[in-house]
Amino acid sequence: MEKDAFKMPNAVTIKGRSSSITNSFFNGIVPVVYPTEKEIQAALHVLEQNENDVRCVYCGEKKTEWDHLHPLIVDKNHTGYITEIANLVPACGKCNQSKGNSDWKEWMLGDAKLSPKSRGIKDLSHRIEIIERYDKTFPKKKIDLEQIIGKEKWSEYKLSLKKLEEDMEHAQNIMDEIKNVYLSQYNNSTRTKHKRVVNTENEKMLDNNVRVITVGTVSIRTRPLQNEPVQEFLKRTLSSLLENNFIPKSEIEKLKTKEYSKQCFDINFPLLQVSLNEDNRVRYWKDKIYGFYVCSQWYQKKHDDKIEKWILYIDDLNKA
Ligand SMILES: [Zn+2]
Repeated sequence: MEKDAFKMPNAVTIKGRSSSITNSFFNGIVPVVYPTEKEIQAALHVLEQNENDVRCVYCGEKKTEWDHLHPLIVDKNHTGYITEIANLVPACGKCNQSKGNSDWKEWMLGDAKLSPKSRGIKDLSHRIEIIERYDKTFPKKKIDLEQIIGKEKWSEYKLSLKKLEEDMEHAQNIMDEIKNVYLSQYNNSTRTKHKRVVNTENEKMLDNNVRVITVGTVSIRTRPLQNEPVQEFLKRTLSSLLENNFIPKSEIEKLKTKEYSKQCFDINFPLLQVSLNEDNRVRYWKDKIYGFYVCSQWYQKKHDDKIEKWILYIDDLNKA
């Protein structure tokens, strides 16, 4: 079977949609000025483009859209720029998505996934020169939405966005809870009967009962090695998960509570703590793991299954 014969469709989270909601709140109300044919020609000329084969200014691939050179939104606020050709450049989908709301030059030279630098695009400094010249040649309008719309209406509008975000967060928490419940049941029944598809390299080193998840560039076993104490296994695994930002923020918050830690792992103390008092110091390892004290009260037989279930749950959260 070829390496990429199978690819799981991406599942979605509710919170994962929040930046597109923020974008539409501002994008939807900033003025849109359509260019004349002359203006388009002038723009393409300064950008050294062939009118019959327009390319992405950032990387040179075939253009699929025009991108705001200066973002309309930064830190959930309108920057003042509007949608007009002076602030638009031809781009490809890859670049547009990777750039997001970043500063175009920093992004081009930065290490973001799919940025021109990360993709090894060759003539970067020449491309930057052209874009800088374009930026200077065509002055851009800037507007103050709050001033135009009026303080009162504007804060009403921003408040409605905030409320929407809170509702999304609430819905996300419920989603997490639901997944937590059904995934643990699902893992108990279906998963153990049908061996999960993992990449074949990993599979070789495993016996039949152990599964592996891939986190960043490392593979993580869901169960300890033979004769490995559960404490060692847990420390090792948590380090990898935390190092690779594989545990969602909301999950970390839950792991700081006694209730959730009990429910998830059947331990009597929060799995993670940011600070310790004299009383609970003995229940935690002395050294912090990526900023957290980790509970040290584990029993091999009792906890192996629970840790495995949780690792698979985290893996599923990340696939969502
Ligand atoms: Zn591109």
